[in-house]
Amino acid sequence: NLSDKLDKAFHILKGHGKITEVNVADTLKEVRRALLDADVNFKIAKDFTARVKDKAIGQDVLTTLQPGQLLVKLVKDELTELMGGDVAGVNLSGNPTVILMSGLQGSGKTTFSGKLANFLKTKKNKKPLLVACDIYRPAAINQLHVVGDQIGVEVYSEPENKNPVEIAQNAIKHAKANGFNVVIVDTAGRLAVDQEMMDEIARVHKAIQPQETLFVVDSMTGQDAVNTAKAFNDILNFDGVILTKLDGDTRGGAALSIKSIVNKPIKFVGTGEKMEAIDVFYPERMAERILGMGDVVSLVERAQEQFDEEEARKLQKKIAKNEFGFDDFLTQIQQVKKMGNMKDLVGMIPGASKAMKDVEIEDDAFKHIEAIIHSMTPGERSKPAIIDVKRKARIAKGSGTKVEQVNQLMKQFDQMSKMMKMMQGPGGKNLMKMMGG
Ligand code: GDP
Ligand code: MG
Repeated sequence: NLSDKLDKAFHILKGHGKITEVNVADTLKEVRRALLDADVNFKIAKDFTARVKDKAIGQDVLTTLQPGQLLVKLVKDELTELMGGDVAGVNLSGNPTVILMSGLQGSGKTTFSGKLANFLKTKKNKKPLLVACDIYRPAAINQLHVVGDQIGVEVYSEPENKNPVEIAQNAIKHAKANGFNVVIVDTAGRLAVDQEMMDEIARVHKAIQPQETLFVVDSMTGQDAVNTAKAFNDILNFDGVILTKLDGDTRGGAALSIKSIVNKPIKFVGTGEKMEAIDVFYPERMAERILGMGDVVSLVERAQEQFDEEEARKLQKKIAKNEFGFDDFLTQIQQVKKMGNMKDLVGMIPGASKAMKDVEIEDDAFKHIEAIIHSMTPGERSKPAIIDVKRKARIAKGSGTKVEQVNQLMKQFDQMSKMMKMMQGPGGKNLMKMMGG
């Protein structure tokens, strides 16, 4: 899938110490290929990689960042921008607020109508009315009633009436008379764009003047989704897009392209058949999802904030001169702690949260380590080699730990110093590596 392909693309950068024109170009060629494979429009993919390239060239690589991570961040930011940048809400003005659903048959309009009604009822304290305007299939009206029953929302329908404009208008009257403050109009779709469907939805749209016209699209339809979006937008000038079936093995292409082609925000996503499977669309989270990197970006950002470059340089010198001691170790622990608690940090490392699902992580995993170091004398901290059996016993007693714990820390410290010496990198980078970043 797209994430794997992008992973491969970023892999090219591993091992390169600096972002150069050549390795950026190579990587971005792979990124572009990955986007094209995910059904992103050719021109969009091309413009996209061109923008990222411009930003990447000439950027200083921060001491705490791997060049690959910096590029990941640039790609993520650009993806976020491509999908709309900010979160777009639903316009709930008007009394009642009228919301019109449009889209092809099978895109998920009826299901989403129910999800939205449920969302507005439970999260926004609204009293919604669902309206069945799909007059072609008797089963469609029935389907909306089943949905309404599930979520405890009234459904307005006129099974004998074959005029969706009338049904919608009557429903709004009914809503006004009965204190409903949101009217969600579910409509009929066809399997493909055709004139009859477009005429009908245009007539309903004109007659009821909705505050929100939403275009519902199946995210698994790839490039077709973009063409359909364009056709509906030309007729309806809709306000937002609903991307359904994002729970399947779907490609990210539709989400990436739609915003740039019709210039309308994606407002919600559907992630399952159940009524609760609705999410507000967050462009940034979607970008992260596409890149398959968990929350690694925020982790990198936090590391960037917390690791003082000056501190890192000092540390590097000490390591080079073999002067890295327990005080420095303590400083590093404090740096890591500033980034958040261990549970959160582990959750941000891709793969790690899954791998460590069943491992109990102490809220303050460093408590014992800090206690032990605090029980050492300044001399012991700067020259750990002098810590003998007798000293170990004293330190254990002073810190309320066991000698084995002191031994374990000494061993960890020893390994860490060796590793740091080997990598000769600044502290931040080492920590990132230790954490699997
Ligand atoms: P409509 O013809 O546009 O009204 O589409 P429906 O609401 O009837 O949905 C068509 C099919 O897609 C149904 O089987 C739904 O259960 C299913 N569906 C709708 N939304 C989602 C979703 O977000 N995820 C999954 N997995 N299935 C969905
Ligand atoms: Mg339907």
